[in-house]
Amino acid sequence: MKIIKTANKIASELLNKKKIGFIPTMGCLHEGHVSLIRKSKKKKLLTVVSIFVNPLQFNNKKDFKKYPKTILNDLKICKKNKVDYVYLPQKKEIYPEKKIIIKNKIHFFKKYMEGKFRPGHFEGVIEVMKRLLKHVKTNYLFLGKKDYQQLIIIKKYLESVNSKIIVVPCDTIRDKNGIALSSRNKLLDQKSLNIAGRIINFLKSNKNKIIKSKNNLLYLNKIIEFGAKKIDYLTAFNLKYLKKTNKPSVNTKVFLAYYLNGVRLIDNF
Ligand code: AMP
Repeated sequence: MKIIKTANKIASELLNKKKIGFIPTMGCLHEGHVSLIRKSKKKKLLTVVSIFVNPLQFNNKKDFKKYPKTILNDLKICKKNKVDYVYLPQKKEIYPEKKIIIKNKIHFFKKYMEGKFRPGHFEGVIEVMKRLLKHVKTNYLFLGKKDYQQLIIIKKYLESVNSKIIVVPCDTIRDKNGIALSSRNKLLDQKSLNIAGRIINFLKSNKNKIIKSKNNLLYLNKIIEFGAKKIDYLTAFNLKYLKKTNKPSVNTKVFLAYYLNGVRLIDNF
């Protein structure tokens, strides 16, 4: 496994290499990330993992500062899973300019969910992705459905620039309590993790009722009763038509963002 820290070096290492699989991450790796790595390895791709906590996608400075960092363990996990290259850039490799000007226009989710509650978030996601993809000229891009909105935004962006990169959507990996694995879970104590488990299981077993309900106050109250401090949204969304919906269907997912002990969690089911 090679650890590469500069844009020039990773680009030259990958030059003329075919069948590359790329897994961009913000580190603090867990089994969710590992499932993406395994998928790439299974396809016999030269597997590149990047670890970079992108300041541009945090609309809250405190949130950025407290994002968990476990780099030594991350490298161990990559090695164990036979990652070929870890791209570990410093901020100046990704953002060499003094003043970063983002020009990305996001047309989806602008008014909804993450787009509404985290202004500038997706613009920052697209910016880092654009730059990472310039350094890592990949054939396949592995993205988790845990961040389904991000997955759609990146797919739409790649389509808009006629990219040939194949996006591979990967299922959400959960722990035994049903909680989606997330780097942010590291910031929660056991009591909060138990609450998160109760919330997701309650919501999942009421999925169709939530989708059909005109007013989901009942479910929002229940989430607060379980112990959440604040809820940003609980929204049924049709992934085919990219619209809010009240109709259960194979394309309908419920998206949720809420706070537990000062930590913001997102999930969808
Ligand atoms: P992150 O490090 O949180 O930016 O995530 C890097 C990639 O891993 C993204 O494509 C995520 O959607 C994906 N990912 C994060 N958590 C999970 C999970 N529990 N299951 C599957 N994929 C995940």
